[in-house]
Amino acid sequence: MSPNPLLRFAPSPNGRLHLGHAYSALHTWRCASQLGGTALLRIEDVDVERCKPEFTAAIMEDLHWLGLDWPEPVLVQSKRFDLYVEAGDRLRNRDLLYPCFCSRAEIAAQATQTDPDGAPLYPGTCKHLSTTEQIDRLGRGDPVQFRLNTEEALARTGMLTFTVVGPLITDRPQIRYARPERWGDVVLQRKGTPTSYHLSVVVDDADQAITHVTRGRDMEAATDIHVLLQMLLGLPSPRYHFHRLILDGEGRKLSKSKGSPSLADLRASGWTPDDVRRELGF
Ligand code: GLU
Repeated sequence: MSPNPLLRFAPSPNGRLHLGHAYSALHTWRCASQLGGTALLRIEDVDVERCKPEFTAAIMEDLHWLGLDWPEPVLVQSKRFDLYVEAGDRLRNRDLLYPCFCSRAEIAAQATQTDPDGAPLYPGTCKHLSTTEQIDRLGRGDPVQFRLNTEEALARTGMLTFTVVGPLITDRPQIRYARPERWGDVVLQRKGTPTSYHLSVVVDDADQAITHVTRGRDMEAATDIHVLLQMLLGLPSPRYHFHRLILDGEGRKLSKSKGSPSLADLRASGWTPDDVRRELGF
């Protein structure tokens, strides 16, 4: 028997939700209903500097205002650092992580390529440090991040595929190849934050037995890393569905920094939940 379909909406509480988030949430709840399953809420707040409890409360208020409900308790990532550390340590014990001491500016100066998000691709500089040098610099307390040795990881896993569904989530799934190598050696842990978005998300999707991950197309390429981590950690891989993005008048993804109005702003100017649904095609 196939498992009970479980989906999740996983915002980061670093600001108020806008129409792009509303689309993603409404879409996730609609997919859950098409599949006869349940949508969960997960709070992705591992970046404790940028994430604030007041935004978590505001997210819940906005989602309830839209008419969405979820089972309790809500998984809050900042309460689960020990589990992410344990997953990271499993990779470290298999010699798949290495310490990197490069600053952002150094990486920008060294890089000759970009990753799928357009950021400078880390050229692997610290992969070649000797053990003595690593121990020395760790001992000195230099700022450090731990990167996945992606080439070595792929040598162990071989070619990877994942399953994609959509635009109708009940449609026949397609198999796609993952190409994590285009992200280079991603950071999985850093001093002060012993995990990363990539590591936490795969641990939680597995722990919550998520069967379908619905996320925007802007997250499509990052899924390659998740599929690699799932294989390395022996975790199941859910089905993936990538939905369209809500763009502003200039064709850019909505974002707070570009002045997109939040749902709270829209509500204050008289929008109703039905107006939001109509605007987004629900
Ligand atoms: N937390 C991520 C965000 O707010 C998305 C999570 C995911 O789909 O994996 O963009």
